[in-house]
Amino acid sequence: MEVFFIAIWLFCGIIAGVIANRKGRSGCGWFLLGILLGPFAFAVALLPDIGLTKKCPKCAEEIKVKAVVCRFCGYEFPPPPPPDASKDVIVGEKITQETIDELWKKREEARRKYYKNG
Ligand SMILES: [Zn+2]
Repeated sequence: MEVFFIAIWLFCGIIAGVIANRKGRSGCGWFLLGILLGPFAFAVALLPDIGLTKKCPKCAEEIKVKAVVCRFCGYEFPPPPPPDASKDVIVGEKITQETIDELWKKREEARRKYYKNG
């Protein structure tokens, strides 16, 4: 009976390793994880790792997020845009300007109403 369990555990490790390897992850590490966790690692290896992979727009294969070139078809991803600092400044400026105008309008309206009523 023990041998049977060990065989299942080993099998899970191999399967987890193979799945991980196909997904571009460390097959060896997942094999060890599979032996440690058994069927659980097998299930985890099957799960799509959210945030760790992206889909290649050319061949639709799951590849690592940080990959610049698709390992399946060689598709080159455009470099990520640099953090846009100027955008924030423009947005901030726009908000403050609009907010000030809005506040002045509201104040002006309130003043008119006040004088009309009283
Ligand atoms: Zn591709």
